[in-house]
Amino acid sequence: MVLTADQTEIRLAGQMKALVEVSKNLTLPLELPELLDNLLHTISAVISPAEASAVMLWDQSSGLFRPVAAAGFDFQILKQMGLRAGESITGKVFDSGRACLLNRPGELQRAMADMRPANRVVFARALNSAREPVSAAGAPVSAGEQRYGVLILLSMAGPAIFQEDDLPIVQTIADLIGLAIDRARLEAKADAIQEARETERLRAELMASLSHELRMPLTAIKGYTSALLMDDIDWEEQKKTEFLSRALEECDNMEVMIRDILDSSIIDVSQLNLEMEPIRLQVLARDVVAEIGRRVKTHRIIVDFPADFPLVDADPHWIKQVFRNILDNAIKYSPDGGLIVLRGEVRAADVVIRIADQGIGISPEDLIPLFEKFFRVRSALHYHVSGTGLGLPNARAIIEAHGGRIWVESKVDQGTTVFFSIPKAAPLPVED
Ligand code: ADP
Repeated sequence: MVLTADQTEIRLAGQMKALVEVSKNLTLPLELPELLDNLLHTISAVISPAEASAVMLWDQSSGLFRPVAAAGFDFQILKQMGLRAGESITGKVFDSGRACLLNRPGELQRAMADMRPANRVVFARALNSAREPVSAAGAPVSAGEQRYGVLILLSMAGPAIFQEDDLPIVQTIADLIGLAIDRARLEAKADAIQEARETERLRAELMASLSHELRMPLTAIKGYTSALLMDDIDWEEQKKTEFLSRALEECDNMEVMIRDILDSSIIDVSQLNLEMEPIRLQVLARDVVAEIGRRVKTHRIIVDFPADFPLVDADPHWIKQVFRNILDNAIKYSPDGGLIVLRGEVRAADVVIRIADQGIGISPEDLIPLFEKFFRVRSALHYHVSGTGLGLPNARAIIEAHGGRIWVESKVDQGTTVFFSIPKAAPLPVED
């Protein structure tokens, strides 16, 4: 097709306009998909015009070219396309490594002949046109040594819509797209580095605060034992017993903290491999209460289950940890002499355990982050109690792994009730 001087001028003006628009878009603070979308819509209208266009990028993980932006296509449908290396126009333009024109009769059809049937169906459904494309221009999208994919422009209007003199501008736009992709990837890398630094900073802060929490009981233990070992003081028997029981109490505190830290890392690493078996929650609850009762004499714990309380499928080791975490809190955050009631209730599809204390309570705003790792209420009353902020997050992970839920109700100065549910065990099949 030979162009008249006027047609050539219109063409050149179109190319200039496309370049200006592309450059303008590149300066906008847009996310990559939005930026590419804008670019394609701008250039489709002014280059030749292209009725359909797409940016196809090589996806390393799937080993396929995938569309990341398109104009003149239904993108939701086109997204299902995945082209192998060498497949169709995309594969061929990418392999050639330079801008290509496919506008001679039959050339485009030949290039598309090896398109796999599933991609052919997606292509036909996604193209917003009843006509087949008859002319194409494409250019590799790259930045420096890095080749990302291709830019493809299609026309259904006639075989010679794209001309040789369109190729430099198509390649320039593809190069600008390459730069935009490069920039976006660098930004993503910078964000990831920033995030990693932030995570590292948080980890260091948490380590510092955990070490501080662990050092507190250790300092107390050291204090009591060194006092007892002083040569020049002859402690009365009563004082000795008091110091030893305080030291023992602090050992228990440390043990609980170490248990929380260990459980948390097991939960993080193994995502809990539960060994489920039909269990009686009332038996586990009484076991844990007896175990706590051997070391804590300051609180009264009542366990109350209805006679028809059903069996549940659960991992006894981990459910015991949940009881320990919640009961330890009920003791830590309520005054000596306080009453703690552990009750089991049966509902239609599950059972609910509630553990109520008469302690210092939690304000409504602190209830929201209560199950977040390392969260501890920063109030004067909570402050002097040692802990890791891992007991409740661990309990939640365990209960959710069992298909249950955990939640808390609380009133400041009146007490806290922690609830958790566990689905009822499916009834055993009746034997014939
Ligand atoms: P911690 O080791 O600090 O006890 P948890 O994850 O078990 O960690 O609990 C998180 C925070 O929730 C605690 O630091 C405490 O401030 C608050 N909390 C938990 N249980 C109770 C309770 N029964 N009464 C009052 N506050 C509680």
